[in-house]
Parts: sequence; C-alpha cells; structure tokens
Amino acid sequence: MTIVMKFGGTSMGDAERIRGCAALVREQAREHRVVAVVSAMAGVTDMLIELAAAAAAGNRAAQHMLLGKLREKHEHAARALSAADRVSPLLDRLETLASGIAAVGELTPRSRDHVLSFGERLSAELMAAAAGARALTGQEAGIVTDENFGEAEPLMDLTLYQVKETLDPLLTPGRCVVVTGFIAATQHGVTTTLGRGGSDYTATILGAALKADEIWIWSDVDGIMSANPKVVPQARLLSAISFGEAIEMGQFGAKSMHPRALEPAAEHRIPVRMRNTFNPSGAGTLISESGEAGHVARAVLSVSKAALVTVAGAAMIGRPGTAARIFRALADENVNILMISQSVSEAGISFVVAGSQLERARGALQKQLLRTGDARHIDVLENVAVVALVGSGMRGTPGVAARLFGAVARRSVNVMAIAQGSSEISVSFVVRGEDGAEAVRGLHEEFELG
Ligand code: ASP
Ligand code: MG
Repeated sequence: MTIVMKFGGTSMGDAERIRGCAALVREQAREHRVVAVVSAMAGVTDMLIELAAAAAAGNRAAQHMLLGKLREKHEHAARALSAADRVSPLLDRLETLASGIAAVGELTPRSRDHVLSFGERLSAELMAAAAGARALTGQEAGIVTDENFGEAEPLMDLTLYQVKETLDPLLTPGRCVVVTGFIAATQHGVTTTLGRGGSDYTATILGAALKADEIWIWSDVDGIMSANPKVVPQARLLSAISFGEAIEMGQFGAKSMHPRALEPAAEHRIPVRMRNTFNPSGAGTLISESGEAGHVARAVLSVSKAALVTVAGAAMIGRPGTAARIFRALADENVNILMISQSVSEAGISFVVAGSQLERARGALQKQLLRTGDARHIDVLENVAVVALVGSGMRGTPGVAARLFGAVARRSVNVMAIAQGSSEISVSFVVRGEDGAEAVRGLHEEFELG
C-alpha cells in the first residue's frame, strides 16, 4: 500500500507530539510506502505573517521579539529531537530575510511567501529527524504552481508527473519521506504558498500523483461529526461520507477539509481518512466516492453572525443583468457570498454574507446599484444564521423539504430565506441568529442523525 499522511499544526505542537506522529509514520512504513506531509508547528504561520509585516513596517522591536520566539520554539524542539544542526541554519536564513525586508521597507506577496515558507521548512526537518527520514520541500517533491503568490494554484498535469518521477523511486517499504505542506514554487523556482490550510492540498496532490491507496489527514479531532457537539450533545462521529457531502460540509466550516483540497482526491478517487493524533486507534471518518448508503441526511451545520441582504425594486423585474450587476459589485469588493435566493416574482434578490463583510457589501451595492437606479432599496437583516442539512440521500427523495420545514416549524422557528442547489445534496435556509441552535437541534432529531 501507499499511504500519504498529513499532520496539522496541533499534531506538530512540540517535540513530544512530533515524536508521537513520527511513531505513527514509522509504524506504517514497516510495511507500506509512506509519505508524511507536515504543517508548520502550531501558531508558527501566524507568527511569520506578523514577522513579515513588522519587518516591512520597520518595527524593529516586534521583529526581534518574533524572531526570538520562533527561534526558541524550534530550537527547543530541535534539542529534544537531536535536530539542532538541521534547524539552526534555517533560522539564520529567516533572520537574514527579515533584515532584508526591513532594509527595503517593503513587503511584496512574493517575499511574504518566502517568509511563510520557513514554518514548514522547519517543521519538516524536525519530523524528518524524529522519523529517521529525508525531508523534501514541496518544490523538491515536484509541485509547480502559477505565480499567484499567497494562493498559488498548482500546474496540475506537470505537478502530478514530476511528483511521481521524484517520489516513486524514494519510496520503498521501511523508508519514508517527509514533505513540507503548503509550500511549492513557480516554474522559475520562486517559492509560493498554496493558501492558508494548504497542507491538506499538498497531501491530496501527492496522493493523486502516487495513486495512493489512502490519504490520512491527522488532526486533533476524531473526524467529521453529524453536528457541532457544542450545539447538539447527541451528535455522533460519521464513519463514512462521500466526497460530495464532504465538499458541501467544508463550505459550512465543518471540521472537514477545504473543498479545493478534496478535489485531487475526488478526481483520482483516492479515499481520504480524517484521523485524530490524540486518539490514533480510532478509525476516523472515511471520505470516499461512495460514502455510506442508507441515509437521507448525514449532517446539519450552521453559520452564525451572518447578514441577510435583500436588493429590491420594481426596476429589477424582467430586466436581464440585474443579478450579474449585484454579484459583480460584490465580487469587485471581494465579498464572499454564502447563499443566494431569488423568488420568481423577481422583485428582490436575497443573499447572505458574513457579518464582518456586511459594510463592504452595503457600500458596493449603494455605489453600483442604488445610485444608478438599478435597484430601489437595500434591506439588511443582521445577526442571522444559515442552517444547512447535508446528505446525498436527499437527492431524488421526495418529502425531505416537508420533513425539514415541519421540524423547524414545530420548534417555532421562522424561516426567512431558502436555497437548494440542483445537486440536491444540501438544503440551506436562513433564520434569526438566536434561533440557529434550536433549528439545528430540530433537524438533528427529525432526521435521526444522532
Ligand atoms: N501552515 C499553513 C497554515 O497555517 C498551512 C497549513 O497548516 O495547512 O495555514
Ligand atoms: Mg496550520
């Protein structure tokens, strides 16, 4: 078997935890071909972001304080893992880089990615020392991206080919390889990063290239739950879900994976298993093509602190392009839309944005739609929650909506907007913020998810 294992920041928290992860790697490597992908140690990427900003702003005190903290954290772990000689040169390079940025007084997306890359370079050396393995950067492993620094996209065909060429010969049972998550390089060899949380993406890319049997994502939770256990005490661990369901849940911030990271696995049909380093004997949640048959719904999720915005006015009726103008205006301001709904009367289009993006959305709409007369008014309802019921078994099953809204009504919760995509994998609706938890509990009970 070929297994790609990815360890998140908490799993790489300190020397003790890294040693535990290395033991998990070595255990599998006795019989299988294993690639370990690592995130930066917990909190390190955030510190590097601050460091880059402090250096660029000429804030010497903060720069030195952060470099000191980073050095202390990694050297402390390195001493315990006998990796000092691997880690110190990297820390020296980081320090030189920070001084360079301070001297220029400017931070480009490109130099920022360079700074961020040190988190994973350092953690990979620590893991490699603990596992007795060789450490490669994403670039050395063969991942090539475009030049969209901060959120680079792999040139997938080339990447899959190169990764296979590089890693295949290095992998024999008993020998494993450690690869930095999150970082890669352009075709010219300039360091890039794949966006926050990008190590999962690295893992699925490597898994796809090696045609792995499974990709294991190790974190600090047992897997994916049927609901947030803080809201629903009866929530249970899901043993298997489909890629479609996982992607839908990821949109709602469930402790799933970023939908983009699931793509290579879904496309190449490589099962992904979410596992817990604090509970390594648990089987976790398996995300695969088929999921688990026999269920209508699998999970109920919610997003709170959102705002429901309705753009309305008779001028919009029967006029093509209104929706395009609204969403263009929002896109231009980088506003992310969580849900959309429009009734056939066309007198209004409603959509939901995160509360933190409301003012930006409102400004964009006022400027681009009210002033031009394209819409008459903008109504905003703050502090709403979006609740979503997810499950591929809902597809083609009549009566799901009736049960869903019946359950919500029995709990005296008022529904303000509804959306269902034609994939029928999820139904989302908007309720008042204070009703969110009650609606989640109602659906969890109705669909017997516990
Ligand atoms: N270290 C990066 C981050 O914190 C990537 C990752 O952890 O997946 O975003
Ligand atoms: Mg992280």
